[in-house]
Amino acid sequence: MIRTPISPRMDTGQEQFLTVLSRDEALARFETALFPRSIPTEERKLADALGLALAIDVTAPTDVPPFDRSNVDGFAVRAADLDSASEALPARLLVNDETIACGVAPRLQVQAGTATPISTGGPVPRGANAIVMVEHTQPTQDGAIAVRRGATPGQFVSHAGSDIARGEVVLRAGMVIGSGEVGMLAACGIARVTVARKLRVAVLSTGDELVQPGQPLRPAAIFDANGAIVSAAVTENGGVATFLGAVGDNEALLEAAMREALATHDVLILSGGTSKGAGDVSHRIVNRLGEPGIVAHGVALKPGKPLCLAVCDGKPVVILPGFPTSAMFTFHDMVVPVLRRMAGLPPRTEAKVAAKIPLRIPSELGRTEFAMVSLVQGEQGLVAYPTGKGSGAITSFAQADGFVRIEALADHLPAGIETPVTLFAPHIRVPDLVVIGSNCTGLDLVVSKLFRDGLTVRSIVIGSLGGLAAAKRGECDIAPIHLFDTQTESYNAPFLSDDLELVEGWRRMQGIVYRQGDVRFQESSADEALRAALADLDCIMVNRNQGSGTRILVDQLLGPARPEGYWNQPRSHNAVAAAVAQGRADWGITIAPVARSAALGFIPLTEEHYDFALVSDRKARPATQAFLAALVSPEIHEALKLLGFSHLPD
Ligand code: AMP
Ligand code: MG
Repeated sequence: MIRTPISPRMDTGQEQFLTVLSRDEALARFETALFPRSIPTEERKLADALGLALAIDVTAPTDVPPFDRSNVDGFAVRAADLDSASEALPARLLVNDETIACGVAPRLQVQAGTATPISTGGPVPRGANAIVMVEHTQPTQDGAIAVRRGATPGQFVSHAGSDIARGEVVLRAGMVIGSGEVGMLAACGIARVTVARKLRVAVLSTGDELVQPGQPLRPAAIFDANGAIVSAAVTENGGVATFLGAVGDNEALLEAAMREALATHDVLILSGGTSKGAGDVSHRIVNRLGEPGIVAHGVALKPGKPLCLAVCDGKPVVILPGFPTSAMFTFHDMVVPVLRRMAGLPPRTEAKVAAKIPLRIPSELGRTEFAMVSLVQGEQGLVAYPTGKGSGAITSFAQADGFVRIEALADHLPAGIETPVTLFAPHIRVPDLVVIGSNCTGLDLVVSKLFRDGLTVRSIVIGSLGGLAAAKRGECDIAPIHLFDTQTESYNAPFLSDDLELVEGWRRMQGIVYRQGDVRFQESSADEALRAALADLDCIMVNRNQGSGTRILVDQLLGPARPEGYWNQPRSHNAVAAAVAQGRADWGITIAPVARSAALGFIPLTEEHYDFALVSDRKARPATQAFLAALVSPEIHEALKLLGFSHLPD
C-alpha cells in the first residue's frame, strides 16, 4: 500500500489529496463497503431474457426426452426375437395393428414375435426394447416382416432423461442467457426465468465548460464526451444507463441533481470536478449523501489519480476524472468489475486478450499506470503497440483497442513480455490493415474500397515522418509518404530503410491557395504571390505540422521568413483550405483536389510524389495484397483521376 501524505494548502483554494491509496487498496475498500449484498432479481419471459444473467440455478422439471424415443423410422421390436436373424435366415415378426407416429401414444404391447411400425421421434411401446431400421426389413406376403439382422437391446432408442434428467441443474446462476441457453430452457418446458435485474445507472457530467453534442459550441466550451462514453460503456457491461446531462460547477444545483439521481437509480457515476481545485465541488457533496461516503479519493493511478469512490447508503457513487481517457481507464479497471458483480454478471473475460509488448514501456514507480495500445496481428499472436498520447487526447481512442496495466511496483514493462490487454469494445477488432502516415483524399478512396470489400483498415494520420518511423518499428503495414530529399532532388526513396520498400502511388499538384478575388494572389506566378504575401504585414498564412511533406515545401519556400500565421500548424490539407476559406488565414499550401473542393484560388508550385513505404515483412499478408491490388484497379484509377491526381500506378 502506498500512501503519500501531503499537507493541505487551503489558502490557495486548492486542497491536496491527503491520502493517495494504491489501486488495490482503493478497490478493496470500495468492495468492502459494497459486498456482500443480494442481487436484485426479476422474473422474465424466456423471449425477454436474452443477454441477462440467471439469478438462480435452474433444475430440469422433466426428463428430456420425456419418454424412450425412437431415433429412426422402422419397427419397435424385442431384441431377443432377432438373436438368430441373418441375411440367409431372416427372422419373421408379425406386425401389430398400430403405427406410432410422432406425437402418438402407443396402445398395444409388443409381444414376443411381433413388431410395431414406428417413426423417428415416436415413443417406444411397452414390451419393445430396440428399433430395427425399415431398410433392414422386408414385408412378407402374409402381412408380417422379415428382419435380416439382429438388434442389441437399446438400439436406436434414446431413453427418457438421457439428454437432461429431471432434477438435474441445467443452468447455473450467473450464466448469461444466449440462444443456446434459451434452447435448453425451452426444451425443459420452462417459460419464465428469474434473472438478475439490470443495474440502473445514472450518468452525470459536471463542468461549466460542457456543451452536449448536437448543440452549438460556445467560445471556450468543449463537447461533453464523458457522458456519451460512460453511458455506452455501462450499456456494454449489461447495465441500463440513464444519461442525466451535464451540470455546471454549482454546488447547490449539483447536489440536487445527485440526490434526485440516487433516489431512482442503483448507481451514480459522475465525471469531472474531482480534482481538489477551487471549482471542483462534486466530491464535497458526496459525503453528505449517505454512509459511509467517500472510501477512496486520490488513487495512485496514472492517469486517473483524482478518482473518487464512494458508497452512500449502499449505493456506489463514483466520480471519474474529467479527462475522457482517464475516465475510461479508471471506469474499465476499477468500476466495471464492481458493477458486474453487483448485477450478478460474470467477470468480463471476453474483454481481455493476451498480447505481446514489442517495445519497453517505461512507467512511474509507485503508481499503477495505464497505457493505451493498439493491437496488430503478429506472426505468433497479437502484438500490442502503445499509442502514446497525453491523457487529454480523445483521438487516442480511435487508435487504441484497449489498455495495459503496469503495476505500481514495476518501473517498466519489458519488451517481449506477454500481458493482458483490457479491450474498450466488447469484442476484439484487430484491423486487417494498418496505414500510418500522411493523409490524402486519394488514399481515402482506396481505404473506402477496402472497407467495401470487407477489410477493416485503421488509418492514422501523423504525417510522413511519423508514418516512416512507425513503419520502421513495424507498427503499420503501409506508410503513405511524400518527402522531398533536397540532396538527391528526389522524392521518398532516399528515406527508406532496408526493411521497407517503395510502392509508387500517384502525384498531386501542391500549390498556394487563396480566396478567389484576392488581388495579392490573383493571376500571379508563385514567386510574385509569395513576394506579395511577405510584403504585406496584414497577410496571414497557415502552415502545416512538423513532419508533414507539405511542411518541408513551406519551409523551402519561405527560407528564413516567419510571416504571421507561421505557428498555426494544422495537420491536414483540409484544415489549410478551411483556414483560408474561413478567413482565419489568407494563404497556405495544399493540394489541388482539396483547393478545388473548397473553391479556392490555386497557384501550382510543384508536383509531389505521394508513395507508400511498405513493410517488407508484411507484404505477403492478404490485406496488404488487397491494398496493392486496389491501387491499380480501374475503379480506383477512375476515381483518382476525377479528383485530379496524375501519374497513377500501373
Ligand atoms: P476536471 O476534473 O473537472 O477539472 O476536468 C479535467 C479536464 O477534463 C478538463 O479539461 C475538463 O474540461 C475535461 N472534462 C471534464 N468533463 C468532461 C467531459 N464530460 N467531457 C470531456 N471533457 C471533460
Ligand atoms: Mg470540471
